[in-house]
Amino acid sequence: MPERLLVIGGDPGGMAAASQARRRRPDLEIVALEKGRWTSYSACGIPYVVGGTVSGLDQLIARSPPVFRDQFRIDARTEHEAMAIDLDARTVEVRDHAHQRTYRLGFDILHIGTGALPRRPDIPGMNLPFVRGVQTLEDADHLLQMVKAGGMEEVVVVGGGYIGLEMAEAFVMRGGHVTVVTNSPEVMATLDPDMGAMVSEGMRGERIEVRCGEAVIGFEDGIVHTEKGDLPADLVVLGLGVEPNSKLAAEAGVATGVRNAIAVDRRQRTPVDGVWAAGDCCESFHRIADRQVYVALGTVANKQGRVAGVNIGGGYATFPGVVGTAITKLCSLEVGRTGLTEREALAAGFQYEVVKVESTTRAGYYPGAAPITTKLLAEKRSGRLLGAQIVGREGAAKRIDVLATALTAGMTVEDITALDLSYAPPFSPVWDPVLIAARKAAERIEASR
Ligand SMILES: Cc1cc2nc3c(=O)[nH]c(=O)nc-3n(C[C@H](O)[C@H](O)[C@H](O)COP(=O)(O)OP(=O)(O)OC[C@H]3O[C@@H](n4cnc5c(N)ncnc54)[C@H](O)[C@@H]3O)c2cc1C
Repeated sequence: MPERLLVIGGDPGGMAAASQARRRRPDLEIVALEKGRWTSYSACGIPYVVGGTVSGLDQLIARSPPVFRDQFRIDARTEHEAMAIDLDARTVEVRDHAHQRTYRLGFDILHIGTGALPRRPDIPGMNLPFVRGVQTLEDADHLLQMVKAGGMEEVVVVGGGYIGLEMAEAFVMRGGHVTVVTNSPEVMATLDPDMGAMVSEGMRGERIEVRCGEAVIGFEDGIVHTEKGDLPADLVVLGLGVEPNSKLAAEAGVATGVRNAIAVDRRQRTPVDGVWAAGDCCESFHRIADRQVYVALGTVANKQGRVAGVNIGGGYATFPGVVGTAITKLCSLEVGRTGLTEREALAAGFQYEVVKVESTTRAGYYPGAAPITTKLLAEKRSGRLLGAQIVGREGAAKRIDVLATALTAGMTVEDITALDLSYAPPFSPVWDPVLIAARKAAERIEASR
């Protein structure tokens, strides 16, 4: 009998591991369970299908079960849900939803990639049909049907995180009047409030109503009740963040850590022999804060899944951790962040200097030159870069990758000023905004020594 790798979860955390393991271990039997109807899909693309930029949901599917079967010899079973894990018997109880039957499947190696669950606070009316989440392709399909049926004039997005903002853009593109309500002081609470305020302001410029510091207290048909009044709504889209979907693992006795995410080491091993995990269900190590954190991002899930698969396949790979990089776009507004915000730097015990510079994305005289604000945090005395945030227009946000690279390399702001970054008028001013910000930060560090 060949050894069996059983994978729970049919998206990157699970399937990147399954595919890598297959490449290295042709002898393994690999079975993957996915409770939904699709495997290897891009949830990240959902806002762009709902908004109409991408023409259909099928474009978001990278690999279907027949592709896994024919090209990878992976038995990917959709609408098959893992209901319970028995670590002593090394079996999983599986519910086959299509055929209404339950069976047990043994495993030699188990890999868990169950992803995240959207937060659903206990608010009256949360389950009404006009209140929708946006997590799976099923959700996306439902929203698309609603868009096609028409009448989505008043759309309320609850939550000011990147998913809420991307969905706000989607409904603006569909011609809706969109209101974003968040109980945070500004949208994008993963930025410092001063940078978040720029995003709130930018959204208002895109004709989106933004109501910050306002909690939603209930839903009734066609109405959103907030603590400051009522809003009419044909549709409510929830973007309230996610929690690790780790209950199945935890109930089986797999240890969990920060925010109940599955505890893993750098090779994606859980503390249980032969049990691995990757993606939104598990922890990550933060290289700047130097501690375990919970980050739910596709970039991380793909990398962790790959690392787990290499190791399961007998190779050696580690996931060195995250530096906290994320990027998003809202209409013509672009946002990027990496490393620590001021609040996070304080919590991690750093003392820092901070600079914020205004510049342009292209040479000032070149058509399309747009504003960009770059904020840097550098450690006092050493000058080591601790974090960066960018808010601007087209061409702004991807500059965050230079700063993420600098963070990963442990560079000081002085080191960054010496980087040989590219320049031509259509792409940047002769002093790129990153270099201007680094130079200012280096001067500030020098002055404070
Ligand atoms: C609208 C939206 C936009 C996003 N945009 C971005 C972006 O721009 N950039 C970025 O980096 N990230 C983005 N993300 C996040 C990214 O999609 C996730 O981080 C990534 O999908 C995580 O992969 P995963 O495999 O860990 O989890 P998931 O993609 O959630 O996959 C987990 C799978 O496991 C299945 N499952 C769960 N429990 C069981 C069970 N018991 N049995 C069988 N199957 C089970 C689920 O059905 C699911 O298909 C976005 C997410 C959303 C929702």
